Amino acid sequence: MTTLLIENGRIIDGAANAAFEGSVLVSEGRIEATGAAADKRAAEVNDLEKLDASGLTVMPGLIDVHCHLAFDDAESNAELFFQRRNALSALVASYNARKLLRAGVTGIVDPDSTFENMIDLRDAIEAGIVEGPRMACGSYALITSIGGTAGRLISNSGVTGYYMAVNGREELVAEVRRQIKNGADWIKVHVTGIVPRQAHRGEMCAWSDDELRLIVGTAHDLDTPVMGHCRGADSTRRAALAGFDFLLHATGMDEAALEVVIDRKVPIAPTFTFQANLADFGAKVGADPGLITLFAREIEDSAENMRRAYDAGVPLLTGSESGFSMVPYGEWHYRELEVFVRYFGLTPLQAIQCATETSAFGLKMSGEIGLIAAGYRADLICVDGRPDEDVTALGRPDAIRHVLIDGVKKDILPPPPRKPLAGWRIGVIGARLDRNTAFGKTNTKGTIDIQELH
Ligand SMILES: [Zn+2]
Repeated sequence: MTTLLIENGRIIDGAANAAFEGSVLVSEGRIEATGAAADKRAAEVNDLEKLDASGLTVMPGLIDVHCHLAFDDAESNAELFFQRRNALSALVASYNARKLLRAGVTGIVDPDSTFENMIDLRDAIEAGIVEGPRMACGSYALITSIGGTAGRLISNSGVTGYYMAVNGREELVAEVRRQIKNGADWIKVHVTGIVPRQAHRGEMCAWSDDELRLIVGTAHDLDTPVMGHCRGADSTRRAALAGFDFLLHATGMDEAALEVVIDRKVPIAPTFTFQANLADFGAKVGADPGLITLFAREIEDSAENMRRAYDAGVPLLTGSESGFSMVPYGEWHYRELEVFVRYFGLTPLQAIQCATETSAFGLKMSGEIGLIAAGYRADLICVDGRPDEDVTALGRPDAIRHVLIDGVKKDILPPPPRKPLAGWRIGVIGARLDRNTAFGKTNTKGTIDIQELH
């Protein structure tokens, strides 16, 4: 492997230090030196390759710790539960993975997937068969029959879409072990779900404390961490107390929840990108105005306690929940940084640190990736713009000029255009044909009674 000198760039190291001009020397896939030391060492290398980063910012690649690569920008849960096919899901995901690279994402955590086939995509990427970001993934999300946000669509047992409904201690233990044997890096639990008849209360904790502890104990015995989807104070506090290693959302924390989270320093990925997109652009995609207000408020109501958690040393990680139509792949991975700056009051450099050094935790690679420092793996991006002044620079079209993983340059050309897949999306029968649409308001015949249409 040749040695690579990335020169003339502006370096953001990922540790929230101010940007500085200089070089980065990469050897054997790792960063060997930075700044003057890099130039000095480079002068001694015979077979030196150079990458001119003039006018560009060199920084660690973005890490998105909440991304569902199997979902293919789904428009509904029903689509994921009933329309998708196993092998095709994996093939489509490998196509979408390239969009993440183009957006400067060099690492992701995929919490759960249809047919648990992101385990296979991860292995294919690691083996160099498919190009994509570095991945850590879960298998099926564990739920009780209460489920997550899909209400009555959730079945009482077994696998549907991206989840497995588990009943009783024995089933729970067996499934955790099966997932770990099958290659899951994480156990993902939907700690909360919506009870349709009590939907006004928001998501409720769907497990007993005993069950939560059992999941954690079983997984930890096999050296596997557990992440929980938690919305609301009660579930966040109980999951943290049960020993969960990582919380997704953790929105609406009260003092009691905050205290436990701070005490245990449980990392959180608030994942507000979805809400931010709905709040800012929902009207453009025909979202209900009530829903738009609700989502904007969810961010505002949680912002102060997220900030307090951050100030107390709780790691905040960046996740986009890409995989749904409101958050398509390759478009919004920088957006969570914007939320951290705008709503939590972090500086752009602090938000960048969250998305790089801190989010390495999700891949279990803290100390290995996410920093430009000697010894770290060279997962780097070169950006046209100054994200340390404005993080949205990371989202501008074509801002990402180079992407390297383990020091190897990735293909970031746009993927070829794709055509629709038959039977992939939920079919829509068509617009509602009422009699006015059919005959016009001035229809004078008026002889057909609605009864005749039945
Ligand atoms: Zn998710």
